[in-house]
Amino acid sequence: MEKLKHFCALPFTQFTVSSFNEYQLCCDNMGESGMYSDQHSILEYFNSDYINKQRLSFLKNKRLDICQSCWKREDKGLRSRRLEGLEGDYREQVRKYKQGLPLIPNHPIFKIKFGNLCNLRCIMCGPQSSSAWAQHKEKHNEGEWPIYDNTFNARTYEDLKEILPAVTRIIISGGEPLMNDRYYEFLEWLIGHGFSKKLKISTLTNATKIPQHLYQYKSAFEKLHFNISIDGIDKKEEYIRAGTFWEKKIENIKKLQIVYPIGFEVTVQTLNVGYLDDIQKYLKENFGRVSPLTNILVTPDYFNIVYLPKEIKEFYLSKPTTYVPNRIKNLLKTPTKNDKMFHRGMNFLRLCDKRNNTNFSDEWPELDYV
Ligand code: SF4
Repeated sequence: MEKLKHFCALPFTQFTVSSFNEYQLCCDNMGESGMYSDQHSILEYFNSDYINKQRLSFLKNKRLDICQSCWKREDKGLRSRRLEGLEGDYREQVRKYKQGLPLIPNHPIFKIKFGNLCNLRCIMCGPQSSSAWAQHKEKHNEGEWPIYDNTFNARTYEDLKEILPAVTRIIISGGEPLMNDRYYEFLEWLIGHGFSKKLKISTLTNATKIPQHLYQYKSAFEKLHFNISIDGIDKKEEYIRAGTFWEKKIENIKKLQIVYPIGFEVTVQTLNVGYLDDIQKYLKENFGRVSPLTNILVTPDYFNIVYLPKEIKEFYLSKPTTYVPNRIKNLLKTPTKNDKMFHRGMNFLRLCDKRNNTNFSDEWPELDYV
């Protein structure tokens, strides 16, 4: 396998379910399996013709178009999911596959989403992952998207009994999991079936709505950890993660931190790359921790920092910083071949401003003058 430079191990060891219930090779993959978690169980998918075809392509060293996210990252010298997957334990799974034996996911990390129910319309998100975006798009006659609810197929809970013994960590994202009843049903099932005490659960949340009953799981799991999305401070956060009330979010995080371990996830993009130090300083002073800043936005392209105009990159690079790692500074140092993509992003923000009665240049005057 070492010689196959386009090989990916993840389809042999792990799977994911998108926020519209479709099984996927990984959370970045653009392939359409046509298999849905409410209709097919995990092991039906994991031994389906669809996934076997993709596995064969990887073993033939094909660079699949549906894996653009990894290729784009790797072409920019960034770490990709594919590269991370190669560090795992996959050889035995490949051997079984070659022998035509059924496979059970063996990755210690299990990833799941519970639909697109979400109260926010973050500027880099869309209707597939946010029901608030779906409603907004419908209101402006830009198509219809259902609210997806991830209800497991009846056999899936039986499959989980076979899969979970190899799992040590479950990562749950969305949509906004804390708004979703399926999330709590899943936690209850893990507790009721004796899995919870050996599991670390990490939930990605926007922390804008935290129900009181979340606090009842305090001692139920080996670890129940919350990774909080945050992309700016105060008005910048309210703009980027539209629908957020900053004061309420901070109050929620303070309460959450008393009971559960927390972390922060910044999605590094055009609107915050010049302000990462402000975010990190705020987090450090108020919560005693910072974001790893490893989540660099790749899609939508128009908010990707590499497309920022040269003068904006230079302006951001000229700011003194304490917390911005060189790998992000190096991305800002890459020459901008053309800034058409950036201007698409600005036009999108102007459309948002018109519809939402906002004005992005109040917070980012430097971008409006380019
Ligand atoms: S190459 Fe990347 S996008 Fe494709 S399946 Fe592997 S991790 Fe996912």
